[in-house]
Amino acid sequence: MTQAFCYWFTGLSGAGKSTIAGELVPLLRERGENPFILDGDVLRQGLCRDLGFSEADRTENQRRVAEVAAILLQAGVSPIVAFISPLANAREEARRIVGTERFFEIYINTPLDVAEARDPKGLYKKVRAGLISEFTGISSPFEAPERADCVVPTVDRTPYECARQIVDELGGGKKERN
Ligand code: ADP
Repeated sequence: MTQAFCYWFTGLSGAGKSTIAGELVPLLRERGENPFILDGDVLRQGLCRDLGFSEADRTENQRRVAEVAAILLQAGVSPIVAFISPLANAREEARRIVGTERFFEIYINTPLDVAEARDPKGLYKKVRAGLISEFTGISSPFEAPERADCVVPTVDRTPYECARQIVDELGGGKKERN
């Protein structure tokens, strides 16, 4: 049976997490995996709708998502977690909950000025207008991973190229992490 893995993305808003997650799905299917995208916005509307954006709430948000990811893995599904996931400690807790041998931390590495120029949801504009507080990268910290399993630069690359890199480096679970 093909194994399942957790593809845990981290990166700024507008970095490209959702877009690359969408490109990754068919590539994982080609490898025989059964991927499913856990989208931050969707979970915040339901399972996590009682949570805000304070550090404590962001940590709890990630803990719940990690528990959902662990359940999906038990069902043979590969969760692709497309959340900002800004806090290193919370990502480490997610790794513990999911199980380190099946957890891939993937850094969608887009500089803030590029993410802000893309502004796919118009959020940066609202932040600059003072309409949103505690926004990651501007008024709330983003702790970039120091030892991600895969670092994916997005500038001058297509989303497909980024997804291809992830599968080439991690697909099949051939981890070379020490
Ligand atoms: P996030 O989920 O990280 O908030 P989105 O995927 O919603 O980000 O938005 C990223 C935006 O950047 C999209 O408009 C996408 O078309 C654009 N983009 C440009 N180059 C890339 C790339 N190499 N990978 C992903 N997205 C890219």
